[in-house]
Amino acid sequence: MIDREFFLGFVKIHILYHASKEPIFGVGIIEELGRHGYYLSPGTLYPTLHRLAEEGYLKQDSKLVEGKVRKYYTITDSGVEVLKNARGKISELVDEVLDDCNNDPIHL
Ligand SMILES: [Zn+2]
Repeated sequence: MIDREFFLGFVKIHILYHASKEPIFGVGIIEELGRHGYYLSPGTLYPTLHRLAEEGYLKQDSKLVEGKVRKYYTITDSGVEVLKNARGKISELVDEVLDDCNNDPIHL
């Protein structure tokens, strides 16, 4: 289990990534994250989506689906910017952290 402090950072990157591919909605993204082994309750996910929208990384649209209003989120230009930066940082981090496994004194 990943410590909560780190978990939310990973989750946010995932959300931005998927929102860059297609419009996302709450239940759909909970399922997608579950597929990756991140289990989020709606009580955690929705505030995270709202915050990302408030900060200008996602924009919210509403659509009527089978008589119900469903909120969709798509990535904004500044979200794309963050994602691009994160991509560079992730690859650097992966190189360093995974590379180091081979001669690691703490045996990860
Ligand atoms: Zn994913």
